[in-house]
Amino acid sequence: QAKAGGAGGRAVYTPDLRSAAMERRVYCLDLHRAAARGEFVLFYQPQVRLADGALTGAEALIRWIHPTRGLLTPAAFLPQLEKGRLVGAVGTWVIDEACAQAARWMRSGAGDFRMAVNIFGAQFHAGDLVRDVSQALGRHGLAPEALELELTENIVLSGDDAVLEALHRLRAMGIGIAFDDFGTGYASLSMLTQYPLTRIKIDRSFVGRMLQSPREAAVAGAIIGIGRELGLSITAEGIETEDQRAHLAARRCAEGQGYLFGRPMPAGAFEAAFALEAPAERRASSG
Ligand code: C2E
Ligand code: MG
Ligand code: MG
Ligand code: MG
Repeated sequence: QAKAGGAGGRAVYTPDLRSAAMERRVYCLDLHRAAARGEFVLFYQPQVRLADGALTGAEALIRWIHPTRGLLTPAAFLPQLEKGRLVGAVGTWVIDEACAQAARWMRSGAGDFRMAVNIFGAQFHAGDLVRDVSQALGRHGLAPEALELELTENIVLSGDDAVLEALHRLRAMGIGIAFDDFGTGYASLSMLTQYPLTRIKIDRSFVGRMLQSPREAAVAGAIIGIGRELGLSITAEGIETEDQRAHLAARRCAEGQGYLFGRPMPAGAFEAAFALEAPAERRASSG
Protein backbone atom coordinates (compact mmCIF):
# COMPACT_ATOMS: atom_id res chain seq x y z
CA GLN A 1 0.00 0.00 0.00
CA ALA A 2 2.72 2.47 0.97
CA LYS A 3 3.94 4.43 -2.02
CA ALA A 4 7.14 6.31 -2.53
CA GLY A 5 6.73 9.99 -1.86
CA GLY A 6 3.14 9.65 -0.66
CA ALA A 7 1.59 11.99 1.91
CA GLY A 8 4.26 14.63 2.05
CA GLY A 9 7.46 12.64 2.01
CA ARG A 10 6.53 9.67 4.16
CA ALA A 11 9.12 7.00 4.62
CA VAL A 12 9.60 4.87 1.52
CA TYR A 13 9.15 1.13 1.92
CA THR A 14 11.71 -0.46 -0.34
CA PRO A 15 12.10 -4.23 -0.17
CA ASP A 16 15.42 -4.09 1.69
CA LEU A 17 13.84 -2.01 4.42
CA ARG A 18 11.11 -4.52 5.10
CA SER A 19 12.53 -6.10 8.20
CA ALA A 20 10.25 -6.09 11.21
CA ALA A 21 12.62 -3.82 13.10
CA MET A 22 12.64 -1.27 10.31
CA GLU A 23 8.86 -1.30 10.01
CA ARG A 24 8.62 -0.63 13.69
CA ARG A 25 10.97 2.33 13.39
CA VAL A 26 8.97 3.72 10.53
CA TYR A 27 5.85 3.30 12.61
CA CYS A 28 7.48 5.12 15.50
CA LEU A 29 8.34 8.01 13.18
CA ASP A 30 4.71 7.96 12.06
CA LEU A 31 3.59 8.51 15.65
CA HIS A 32 5.87 11.51 16.06
CA ARG A 33 4.65 12.94 12.78
CA ALA A 34 1.05 12.34 13.82
CA ALA A 35 1.59 14.28 17.03
CA ALA A 36 3.35 17.11 15.20
CA ARG A 37 0.57 17.35 12.61
CA GLY A 38 -2.24 17.16 15.12
CA GLU A 39 -3.62 13.86 13.81
CA PHE A 40 -4.61 12.66 17.27
CA VAL A 41 -8.12 13.62 18.30
CA LEU A 42 -10.35 12.86 21.24
CA PHE A 43 -13.71 11.17 20.88
CA TYR A 44 -16.22 11.35 23.72
CA GLN A 45 -18.46 8.59 24.99
CA PRO A 46 -21.45 9.51 27.16
CA GLN A 47 -21.74 8.29 30.74
CA VAL A 48 -25.30 8.24 32.04
CA ARG A 49 -27.39 7.66 35.15
CA LEU A 50 -28.87 4.19 34.71
CA ALA A 51 -32.19 4.99 36.36
CA ASP A 52 -33.24 7.56 33.77
CA GLY A 53 -30.49 7.86 31.18
CA ALA A 54 -29.55 11.42 32.20
CA LEU A 55 -26.09 12.47 31.04
CA THR A 56 -23.55 12.60 33.87
CA GLY A 57 -20.35 13.03 31.91
CA ALA A 58 -18.12 11.69 29.18
CA GLU A 59 -15.01 9.58 28.80
CA ALA A 60 -12.37 11.00 26.48
CA LEU A 61 -10.94 8.31 24.18
CA ILE A 62 -8.05 8.92 21.82
CA ARG A 63 -8.25 8.30 18.07
CA TRP A 64 -5.73 8.75 15.29
CA ILE A 65 -6.97 10.22 12.03
CA HIS A 66 -4.32 8.53 9.92
CA PRO A 67 -3.65 10.17 6.53
CA THR A 68 -3.90 6.90 4.59
CA ARG A 69 -5.39 4.31 6.97
CA GLY A 70 -8.26 6.47 8.21
CA LEU A 71 -9.68 6.41 11.72
CA LEU A 72 -7.59 4.26 14.05
CA THR A 73 -8.70 3.11 17.51
CA PRO A 74 -6.23 2.76 20.41
CA ALA A 75 -5.69 -0.98 19.81
CA ALA A 76 -3.88 -0.10 16.57
CA PHE A 77 -1.33 2.27 18.06
CA LEU A 78 -1.32 2.49 21.87
CA PRO A 79 0.94 -0.54 22.38
CA GLN A 80 3.56 1.05 20.13
CA LEU A 81 3.03 4.51 21.61
CA GLU A 82 3.48 3.21 25.15
CA LYS A 83 6.86 1.72 24.25
CA GLY A 84 8.31 5.05 23.21
CA ARG A 85 9.06 8.40 24.78
CA LEU A 86 6.28 10.25 23.00
CA VAL A 87 3.71 8.80 25.38
CA GLY A 88 4.34 11.49 28.00
CA ALA A 89 3.64 14.32 25.58
CA VAL A 90 0.53 12.61 24.20
CA GLY A 91 -0.74 12.00 27.73
CA THR A 92 -0.24 15.66 28.59
CA TRP A 93 -2.07 16.69 25.44
CA VAL A 94 -5.01 14.35 26.23
CA ILE A 95 -5.43 15.95 29.65
CA ASP A 96 -5.29 19.48 28.27
CA GLU A 97 -7.64 18.80 25.37
CA ALA A 98 -10.19 16.96 27.53
CA CYS A 99 -10.16 19.76 30.12
CA ALA A 100 -10.61 22.39 27.41
CA GLN A 101 -13.61 20.50 26.03
CA ALA A 102 -15.15 19.93 29.46
CA ALA A 103 -14.80 23.61 30.33
CA ARG A 104 -16.49 24.59 27.05
CA TRP A 105 -19.41 22.24 27.68
CA MET A 106 -19.81 23.36 31.27
CA ARG A 107 -19.89 27.00 30.20
CA SER A 108 -22.60 26.10 27.72
CA GLY A 109 -24.85 24.69 30.40
CA ALA A 110 -23.90 21.04 30.78
CA GLY A 111 -24.59 21.33 34.52
CA ASP A 112 -23.00 18.66 36.71
CA PHE A 113 -20.75 17.34 33.99
CA ARG A 114 -17.70 15.15 34.63
CA MET A 115 -14.91 14.45 32.15
CA ALA A 116 -13.12 11.12 32.54
CA VAL A 117 -9.57 10.88 31.20
CA ASN A 118 -7.49 7.71 30.86
CA ILE A 119 -3.93 7.90 32.17
CA PHE A 120 -0.86 6.08 30.86
CA GLY A 121 1.41 4.50 33.44
CA ALA A 122 4.32 6.47 31.99
CA GLN A 123 2.63 9.73 32.98
CA PHE A 124 3.54 9.04 36.59
CA HIS A 125 7.21 8.82 35.68
CA ALA A 126 7.91 10.60 32.39
CA GLY A 127 6.68 13.97 33.49
CA ASP A 128 4.77 15.50 36.31
CA LEU A 129 1.18 14.36 36.20
CA VAL A 130 0.12 16.58 39.09
CA ARG A 131 1.58 19.64 37.39
CA ASP A 132 0.02 18.73 34.01
CA VAL A 133 -3.40 18.38 35.61
CA SER A 134 -3.17 21.59 37.67
CA GLN A 135 -2.04 23.55 34.63
CA ALA A 136 -4.85 22.20 32.47
CA LEU A 137 -7.48 22.98 35.10
CA GLY A 138 -6.11 26.50 35.58
CA ARG A 139 -5.69 27.25 31.89
CA HIS A 140 -9.26 26.28 31.06
CA GLY A 141 -10.94 27.32 34.29
CA LEU A 142 -12.26 23.84 35.01
CA ALA A 143 -13.25 22.86 38.55
CA PRO A 144 -11.21 19.86 39.81
CA GLU A 145 -14.47 18.09 40.73
CA ALA A 146 -15.33 18.01 37.02
CA LEU A 147 -12.30 15.88 36.22
CA GLU A 148 -11.87 12.17 36.85
CA LEU A 149 -8.72 10.20 36.05
CA GLU A 150 -9.10 6.54 35.03
CA LEU A 151 -6.39 4.10 36.03
CA THR A 152 -6.01 0.48 35.07
CA GLU A 153 -4.53 -2.32 37.10
CA ASN A 154 -1.14 -2.24 35.44
CA ILE A 155 -0.68 1.29 36.78
CA VAL A 156 -2.06 0.56 40.21
CA LEU A 157 -0.15 -2.71 40.46
CA SER A 158 3.19 -1.08 39.84
CA GLY A 159 3.04 -0.66 43.63
CA ASP A 160 5.13 2.42 43.18
CA ASP A 161 5.30 5.09 45.89
CA ALA A 162 5.41 7.79 43.21
CA VAL A 163 2.03 6.61 41.90
CA LEU A 164 0.43 6.52 45.32
CA GLU A 165 1.81 9.92 46.26
CA ALA A 166 0.66 11.56 43.03
CA LEU A 167 -2.80 10.06 43.45
CA HIS A 168 -3.11 11.39 46.98
CA ARG A 169 -2.14 14.87 45.82
CA LEU A 170 -4.64 14.75 42.93
CA ARG A 171 -7.39 13.46 45.20
CA ALA A 172 -6.63 16.22 47.74
CA MET A 173 -7.19 18.76 44.94
CA GLY A 174 -10.71 17.37 44.51
CA ILE A 175 -10.09 15.31 41.37
CA GLY A 176 -11.87 11.96 41.04
CA ILE A 177 -9.90 8.72 40.72
CA ALA A 178 -11.55 5.77 38.96
CA PHE A 179 -10.31 2.19 38.83
CA ASP A 180 -10.92 1.15 35.20
CA ASP A 181 -11.72 -2.36 33.92
CA PHE A 182 -12.12 -3.61 37.47
CA GLY A 183 -12.11 -7.34 38.03
CA THR A 184 -10.21 -8.52 34.98
CA GLY A 185 -6.61 -8.68 36.14
CA TYR A 186 -4.59 -9.43 39.20
CA ALA A 187 -5.50 -6.55 41.47
CA SER A 188 -6.37 -7.67 44.96
CA LEU A 189 -9.15 -6.21 47.02
CA SER A 190 -6.58 -4.52 49.25
CA MET A 191 -5.97 -2.11 46.34
CA LEU A 192 -9.39 -0.71 47.10
CA THR A 193 -8.29 0.27 50.57
CA GLN A 194 -4.81 1.54 49.72
CA TYR A 195 -5.63 3.88 46.86
CA PRO A 196 -7.62 7.11 47.18
CA LEU A 197 -10.34 5.95 44.78
CA THR A 198 -13.69 7.56 44.15
CA ARG A 199 -15.09 5.13 41.58
CA ILE A 200 -14.93 1.56 40.31
CA LYS A 201 -15.70 0.79 36.67
CA ILE A 202 -17.01 -2.74 36.22
CA ASP A 203 -15.29 -4.25 33.22
CA ARG A 204 -17.45 -4.83 30.20
CA SER A 205 -16.63 -8.55 30.12
CA PHE A 206 -18.88 -9.06 33.18
CA VAL A 207 -21.63 -6.87 31.75
CA GLY A 208 -21.50 -8.68 28.42
CA ARG A 209 -21.99 -12.13 29.96
CA MET A 210 -24.00 -11.51 33.11
CA LEU A 211 -27.44 -12.20 31.59
CA GLN A 212 -26.29 -15.62 30.31
CA SER A 213 -24.13 -16.56 33.25
CA PRO A 214 -25.31 -16.44 36.89
CA ARG A 215 -21.66 -16.48 37.98
CA GLU A 216 -20.78 -13.37 35.99
CA ALA A 217 -23.92 -11.72 37.33
CA ALA A 218 -22.86 -12.64 40.87
CA VAL A 219 -19.45 -11.06 40.37
CA ALA A 220 -20.95 -7.90 38.90
CA GLY A 221 -23.35 -7.76 41.84
CA ALA A 222 -20.53 -8.29 44.33
CA ILE A 223 -18.49 -5.44 42.81
CA ILE A 224 -21.51 -3.15 43.13
CA GLY A 225 -21.83 -4.23 46.77
CA ILE A 226 -18.17 -3.64 47.59
CA GLY A 227 -18.34 -0.23 45.96
CA ARG A 228 -21.38 0.70 48.02
CA GLU A 229 -19.75 -0.51 51.27
CA LEU A 230 -16.65 1.55 50.53
CA GLY A 231 -18.65 4.62 49.54
CA LEU A 232 -17.37 4.52 45.96
CA SER A 233 -19.34 5.39 42.87
CA ILE A 234 -19.89 2.58 40.38
CA THR A 235 -20.00 2.70 36.60
CA ALA A 236 -20.76 -0.36 34.50
CA GLU A 237 -18.95 -0.42 31.16
CA GLY A 238 -20.05 -1.94 27.87
CA ILE A 239 -23.83 -1.78 28.28
CA GLU A 240 -25.26 -2.67 24.90
CA THR A 241 -28.84 -3.75 25.62
CA GLU A 242 -31.84 -2.49 27.54
CA ASP A 243 -31.94 -5.79 29.48
CA GLN A 244 -28.40 -5.19 30.71
CA ARG A 245 -29.30 -1.64 31.74
CA ALA A 246 -32.38 -2.81 33.61
CA HIS A 247 -30.51 -5.62 35.36
CA LEU A 248 -27.76 -3.27 36.60
CA ALA A 249 -30.19 -0.52 37.58
CA ALA A 250 -32.20 -3.03 39.61
CA ARG A 251 -29.01 -3.92 41.48
CA ARG A 252 -28.44 -0.27 42.25
CA CYS A 253 -25.55 0.32 39.92
CA ALA A 254 -25.88 4.09 39.56
CA GLU A 255 -24.10 4.83 36.31
CA GLY A 256 -23.24 3.22 33.02
CA GLN A 257 -21.57 3.61 29.70
CA GLY A 258 -21.92 1.66 26.48
CA TYR A 259 -23.19 1.53 22.93
CA LEU A 260 -26.80 1.53 24.22
CA PHE A 261 -26.32 5.16 25.25
CA GLY A 262 -23.82 6.19 22.62
CA ARG A 263 -20.55 5.21 20.99
CA PRO A 264 -17.43 7.30 21.34
CA MET A 265 -17.98 10.24 18.97
CA PRO A 266 -16.38 13.53 17.91
CA ALA A 267 -17.12 16.57 20.06
CA GLY A 268 -19.54 18.03 17.51
CA ALA A 269 -21.60 14.85 17.34
CA PHE A 270 -21.66 14.69 21.14
CA GLU A 271 -23.02 18.24 21.31
CA ALA A 272 -25.71 17.38 18.81
CA ALA A 273 -26.67 14.12 20.53
CA PHE A 274 -26.95 15.69 23.97
CA ALA A 275 -28.22 19.11 22.96
CA LEU A 276 -25.22 20.96 24.32
CA GLU A 277 -25.12 24.40 22.82
CA ALA A 278 -21.77 25.43 21.44
CA PRO A 279 -20.62 28.51 23.42
CA ALA A 280 -20.70 30.77 20.34
CA GLU A 281 -24.35 29.94 19.64
CA ARG A 282 -25.21 30.59 23.24
CA ARG A 283 -23.63 34.03 23.13
CA ALA A 284 -25.49 34.80 19.94
CA SER A 285 -28.89 33.72 21.25
CA SER A 286 -28.59 35.46 24.62
CA GLY A 287 -27.04 38.67 23.31
P1 C2E B 1 -11.29 1.90 28.40
O1 C2E B 1 -10.75 3.07 29.12
O2 C2E B 1 -11.80 0.76 29.20
O3 C2E B 1 -12.41 2.48 27.42
C1 C2E B 1 -13.59 1.81 27.08
C2 C2E B 1 -13.44 1.10 25.75
O4 C2E B 1 -14.59 0.30 25.54
C3 C2E B 1 -13.36 2.06 24.57
O5 C2E B 1 -12.54 1.46 23.58
C4 C2E B 1 -14.81 2.10 24.09
O6 C2E B 1 -14.93 2.44 22.73
C5 C2E B 1 -15.21 0.67 24.33
N1 C2E B 1 -16.67 0.54 24.53
C6 C2E B 1 -17.48 1.42 25.14
N2 C2E B 1 -18.75 0.98 25.18
C7 C2E B 1 -18.73 -0.24 24.59
C8 C2E B 1 -19.75 -1.22 24.33
O7 C2E B 1 -20.93 -1.07 24.64
N3 C2E B 1 -19.36 -2.37 23.70
C9 C2E B 1 -18.06 -2.58 23.32
N4 C2E B 1 -17.77 -3.73 22.70
N5 C2E B 1 -17.08 -1.67 23.55
C10 C2E B 1 -17.41 -0.52 24.19
P2 C2E B 1 -11.40 2.29 22.82
O8 C2E B 1 -11.84 3.70 22.59
O9 C2E B 1 -10.98 1.45 21.67
O10 C2E B 1 -10.24 2.35 23.89
C11 C2E B 1 -9.60 1.18 24.32
C12 C2E B 1 -8.71 1.46 25.49
O11 C2E B 1 -7.60 2.30 25.11
C13 C2E B 1 -9.39 2.20 26.63
O12 C2E B 1 -10.15 1.29 27.40
C14 C2E B 1 -8.21 2.77 27.37
O13 C2E B 1 -7.64 1.81 28.21
C15 C2E B 1 -7.24 3.07 26.23
N6 C2E B 1 -7.32 4.51 25.89
C16 C2E B 1 -8.17 5.13 25.03
N7 C2E B 1 -7.92 6.45 24.98
C17 C2E B 1 -6.90 6.69 25.83
C18 C2E B 1 -6.19 7.88 26.24
O14 C2E B 1 -6.48 9.01 25.82
N8 C2E B 1 -5.20 7.71 27.15
C19 C2E B 1 -4.88 6.49 27.68
N9 C2E B 1 -3.92 6.43 28.59
N10 C2E B 1 -5.52 5.35 27.31
C20 C2E B 1 -6.52 5.46 26.41
MG1 MG C 1 -11.31 4.17 30.61
MG1 MG D 1 -12.64 0.38 30.85
MG1 MG E 1 -9.92 -1.04 28.73
